[in-house]
Amino acid sequence: VLDPGHGGRDPGTIGGQGTQEKRIVLAAAEELKRQLEAGGRCRVAMTRSTDRFIPLGDRVDFARRREAALFVSLHADSAPGARGASVYTLGEGSDPLALALARRENLADRAGGLRLPSVPPEVQAILLSLMRAETRAGSARMARQVVNELGQDVPLLPNTHRQAGFVVLKAPEIPSVLVEMGFLSNVQDEAALRRPEHRARVARAMTRAIHGWLARAGQPEALAATG
Ligand code: ZN
Repeated sequence: VLDPGHGGRDPGTIGGQGTQEKRIVLAAAEELKRQLEAGGRCRVAMTRSTDRFIPLGDRVDFARRREAALFVSLHADSAPGARGASVYTLGEGSDPLALALARRENLADRAGGLRLPSVPPEVQAILLSLMRAETRAGSARMARQVVNELGQDVPLLPNTHRQAGFVVLKAPEIPSVLVEMGFLSNVQDEAALRRPEHRARVARAMTRAIHGWLARAGQPEALAATG
């Protein structure tokens, strides 16, 4: 599932040239979908394909209803002084930039429930913790793929993989990453992201990352991570 951030009454960041994040991320997601589908190795669904507002929790619910193998949210937010692409996974990070991004993205917070088999609460707790560990490892592996592939083609933010409590990354069973393709608050990033050729380059790198990730999906992440 691809998740173009923002939409409708929520434009996201607006760059110095007037570029609206909601439009850039939708254009980027459409290009990524096109390239992924051309590869013929996965089915792609998007949380939105038009300019409409979708609460964060609904984006997560969308992916869970479709039993997505992977959730990728696309953004191009603002961060004073920052330039380059970066990737975020769910975590308790203390990195101020990641925390500030998550705080802003989470303004439309809404809690989502989890369906678990009818087993005693203590068994549910164990199942949930195993599931979360597996999901966390899968998310971290995807973040590494994204850093490796994007790094070949576009400038990266230092400490490219960061962690914070983004609501949109909270599906307990779906490995999830949020990619900041660049920052619209940066003049060079904004100019690049406005260009279709640049977005196509980002999409090619993301396609390699997703294909690479899928090639190892289904193998136990905990073993893969330590082995
Ligand atoms: Zn955003």
